Formats: sequence, structure tokens, C-alpha cells
Amino acid sequence: MPTYTAPTRDTRFLVNELLDLASYGNLPGFEMASPDVTDAVITEGGKFCAEVLAPINQSGDQEGCTRHEDGSVTTPKGFKEAFNQFREAGWGTLAQPEEFGGQGLPHVLGFVMEEFISSANQAFGMYPGLTNGAISALIAKGTQEQKEMYLPKMVSGEWTGTMNLTEPQCGTDLGMIRTKAEPKGDGSYSITGTKIFISAGEHDLSDNIIHLVLAKTPGAPDSTKGISLFVVPKFLVNEDGSVGERNGVMCGSIEHKMGIHANSTCVLNYDGATGWLVGEENKGLAAMFIMMNAARLGVGMQGLSQAEVAYQNAVAYALDRRQGRALTGPAEPEAQADPIFVHPDVRRMLMDAKAFTEGMRALSLWGALLVDLTHKAQTEEERAEADAMIGLLTPVIKGYGTDKGYEVATNMQQVFGGHGYIEEWGMSQFVRDARIAQIYEGTNGVQAMDLCGRKLAQKGGAAIQAYFKAVGDDIAAAKDDDDLGAMAEALEKALGQQQAATMWFMQNAMQNPNHLGAGAHHYMHIMGIVTLGWMWLRMAKVAQTALASDTDDKAFYEAKLATARYYMDRFLPDVGALRRKLEAGADTLMALDEAAFSTAA
Ligand SMILES: Cc1cc2nc3c(=O)[nH]c(=O)nc-3n(C[C@H](O)[C@H](O)[C@H](O)COP(=O)(O)OP(=O)(O)OC[C@H]3O[C@@H](n4cnc5c(N)ncnc54)[C@H](O)[C@@H]3O)c2cc1C
Repeated sequence: MPTYTAPTRDTRFLVNELLDLASYGNLPGFEMASPDVTDAVITEGGKFCAEVLAPINQSGDQEGCTRHEDGSVTTPKGFKEAFNQFREAGWGTLAQPEEFGGQGLPHVLGFVMEEFISSANQAFGMYPGLTNGAISALIAKGTQEQKEMYLPKMVSGEWTGTMNLTEPQCGTDLGMIRTKAEPKGDGSYSITGTKIFISAGEHDLSDNIIHLVLAKTPGAPDSTKGISLFVVPKFLVNEDGSVGERNGVMCGSIEHKMGIHANSTCVLNYDGATGWLVGEENKGLAAMFIMMNAARLGVGMQGLSQAEVAYQNAVAYALDRRQGRALTGPAEPEAQADPIFVHPDVRRMLMDAKAFTEGMRALSLWGALLVDLTHKAQTEEERAEADAMIGLLTPVIKGYGTDKGYEVATNMQQVFGGHGYIEEWGMSQFVRDARIAQIYEGTNGVQAMDLCGRKLAQKGGAAIQAYFKAVGDDIAAAKDDDDLGAMAEALEKALGQQQAATMWFMQNAMQNPNHLGAGAHHYMHIMGIVTLGWMWLRMAKVAQTALASDTDDKAFYEAKLATARYYMDRFLPDVGALRRKLEAGADTLMALDEAAFSTAA
């Protein structure tokens, strides 16, 4: 059976040293994140995930969710008890506003916990994860009455939330939504339609499920401009806040899918269900995007989480499994064979995973800090800067983080050889679970287009220029340093390639938008690789400072520096190749007509 231990040492390094959370103590919420509190979240949160959630990950995968005749759904054995423990310990409330019963701590700590939960049990993590997204949308767009009615119970975990966008005929293109919302004349609406693939759509973990549903009102424009957002509780809520009558929404079936078996993916049939408008009519997509942006960062974290847990198990296996001899001569001559850890090809996979997971963790937690700063930074200018940066980085965290996270998970499966393909070893589950993160919350193709088609051009390219400047400043500061100079130069070269690719888009995509579409995926990966390189340069600097100050954890900081060097050597060169692919444009990619794709006579 696979095991999981939360990466507490690395997380402490990031939170305390790289991000220096304590230095934000003057901002609301941060003052409560004292070193003791931060340490308790990391230690106790990690323990909870390892001891309560990880042990039911594989059994949950094997058992899956069960839909019963009456449309109810039960989660696998142990999930309800684990969810109760999760709720009672308040793990879901860390970064939620105090006003609604949350602890008001920085999102950084919420994200720390999200990673641990998802590594331990991704399917479990989706129940509170979707609830968090629904909470964000209600906080941003709900009326005071809606907030008071739903948020305290959602924050406490008594009720959970879902997001309902997808329908059989529309996934990416939400303009094609058919679900209808007819005004009932009393301020409520009658919601009718079919939603598919709704995660956590029906289950037995909470007393009520608060669905946020996209639908169209009569006469609304037949496009994304005609979508409105509604809150539709599974059980109507009585005036005193208690759970009332069953609403007209039922689970028609649950999907049999590749992974995340313990999360119920439901077809939800809305049959005249009572719902209430959230935000303005026809402005539902904007409201839903608040939820999706929060969720996209969480999904990026899922890429990291599966890479991390797969990596931990692969390292243990590589140290234990003996096959062949080291190329340089037997490492353990007294044994019949050396551990596979000695083989450079196995090391290649493990180092790749280590460099990705630690770099991605740094990026994700910095992203979470930016989310905090968008709300809490002292000046309007600082808040706007943080907002622009996280807006730019969100598709990179989601798209690159999950593409690479999946690749790492399969490489860690590869370390197990044939055993990686056998279910009982658990590596295949990590690969299967990681795969969905590339698909939902907007496919990675859509993330790439969001980055290149929208974010790069926004406000005359202000966000990407700010990004170039920030990376460039850190490079300049490190360039003359004996240790860091070579790393900074390698990163500077890669950044130059990214700038050239950006320029190529500017010069070519206007005349032929297919050039943008053809290169967007490559650009997203270029930016992912450069951004992680930036994180590694920053981490290397912190490690160097710690080593100079006579630390008693030398091995940790030396490993950071060595991994940073590895990253610059082995990840950054891909940027040049990706740039060349991007600059090849769309011509050969779009050259063939439909008939040419047929392989039959
Ligand atoms: C397990 C699971 C859980 C899910 N959970 C939820 C949930 O909780 N709530 C919810 O509402 N939905 C959920 N979804 C739906 C998910 O978000 C959609 O499947 C996803 O957005 C893609 O939509 P689609 O499947 O219709 O694919 P399509 O939109 O048909 O896309 C097919 C392919 O075409 C590409 N494509 C489409 N349009 C474009 C374009 N304009 N530019 C470039 N490429 C394009 C896509 O990238 C993809 O490769 C879930 C799906 C799954 C499988």
C-alpha cells in the first residue's frame, strides 16, 4: 500500500523563509498567523492528512461511490467519519472569513492544507474544495441575506457546495447552456435542465448541498452574455436556518470514470427546482469566474499533490528495489544487486520530480500569498499589482502545473517498473487521479488560450511587462554572485526566449489568430518553466543566505542549491525548443483538410 507523509520541512522553508509570512504581520489576518499557529497548521494538518485521509485513499478508489434507487449517493467506507473529523477539527475553515465562522488566516495556510489533503486523498479533497469555490462566489456576489443563510453552514462544513456549468451539449462553450430559469414572481426562479459531470453533486457527507447553477432567463441573449447564476439548495432552507423541504434537483446517475472514484461525479436533473439569482441577471459568467479562478488554483495544486505523493513512494521504492549494478561499479558489492536508485535514468526521473514539486510548491504558495494581497495589501496600487500578477499566473499554475504534475506522476509509476502498472501498488491511482486535473476547470487548452488570448494582451500587456520586470530584477540582483550567477544567466536566457515568443505573437497573431491558437500550449509551458526557474532562483538565494549563517540544517539547504542547479540545467533548455515550435506558426498544423485525417482508404 502506498504511503504519504506531508512535506512539512519544505513547506516550513517556503512559508517562513521564502515568503516570510511573518513580515506581513501588519495586514489583516496575517497578525493571527504567528509562527506557532503556522507551525501547528503545518504539523497537525500534515498529521491529519497522513493519518486520517491517506489510509482511505486506495480503498475509496476501489469501492467508489454508490447511487441508490432513490437517487441518494453514498461515499466509500470511512469517508463520512473522516469528513466529520475534518469538520470538527475546523480544517476547512482556516482561510475563511471570521464573519462567517472562519478563522480568517491567510490563504497561504489554506493552500498548504489543500496540498496535503489532495496528496493524501484527492477525491476527498474535492468535497471541501468545491465548497470553497462556492463560498468565494457567494461572498463576492451574494446578497446579504444569501450570505447569512448559506455561508456560516458552508464554512463550518455542515453544508457543502457545487458548481454546475456543464451540460451534455456544452462544456467549454458555455454560451450553449440550455438550463432555464423562469421567474416565479416571488423573487425566486424555477430551474429546469440537465447538468452533467457535477463533482460532489450528491453524497452523504453533509446535511445540505448548495448548488451554484448557470442558467438562462426567458429572452436572455443566446450567448455567454445571457447566462445568470443561481443558488439552488438541495433542501430548501427554513426561516430559522434549518433544513426544510427537498428541492426539485435529483442525481440521475453517477459517472464511471478513470480516477477520483471516491468523488461522486453526477448527472443532476433540475425539474422546476427553486433557485435564487446570485449577482445580476446575465452577468452569471463573471460571477462563476470568481469561483473558477479560486478553483483553478486549487486544481493546479492537485497536479502538484499527485506528483508529490507519487514521488515519495517512488523514492522509497528506488531505495528498496535491487536490480543491476551502478555503471561506475557495484555500489553495494556485498549485495546481489544495487538499489535502482544508483541508475542515472532512475535518478533522472526522481530529480525531475523533486525539481518540479519543490518549484511548483513555491509557485503555488506564492500564488496564494498574491490572492491574500489582492484583498489585504495596504494600498490600492499594491492590491491591483497582486491581482494582475495572480490573474496572469492562474492559467500557468493550472495548465502547466497539471500537465507537468501528470507527467511526473507517470514517471514515478515508471520507477516501479511492472509493479507500477499493478493496482495494489497504488501508483496507477496517482496517475489516474492526476489526469482529471488537466481536463476540468477549463481544459488546459482553454487555460493556454486564456493566458495568450486574454491575459497577455490585457491593459496593453501591463501584467506580462510587470512579470518580465520582476523576473529580470531578481536575475540582475543575482548575476554577479559567485554561486548564483550561473543560474541567473541561464534563467536570463530562458526569459529572453519567452520575451521573443511574446513578441512573435504580437507581430503575427493579429494577422492570423490561428498562430496564437497553435502556439498557446507551448507558450503556457514556456512560462511555466521560466516561472519555476524564477522560484528556484529565489529559493537558491534563501538557501545560500541560510548556509552563510551557520545553519544546523546544512543538508537541506545544500540540497536546495543542488536542485536549483539541476533545474537550470535540465528544465530551462526546453524553453528554446518550445519557442521554435511556437514560431513555426499554424501553417503546417492547419494545412490538411478533413479527408486527409482519415486513415481508411
Ligand atoms: C470527473 C469530472 C468532474 C467534473 N466536474 C465538474 C463540475 O463539478 N462542474 C462542472 O460544471 N463541470 C465539471 N466537469 C466538466 C468539465 O469542466 C468539462 O468536461 C471541461 O470543461 C471540458 O468540457 P467538455 O468535456 O464538454 O469538452 P469540450 O468543450 O467538448 O472540449 C473538447 C476538446 O476541445 C477543446 N476545445 C474546446 N473548445 C476549445 C476552444 N475554444 N479552443 C481550444 N480548444 C477547445 C478542449 O480543450 C478539449 O480538448 C467535470 C468533468 C469531469 C470529467
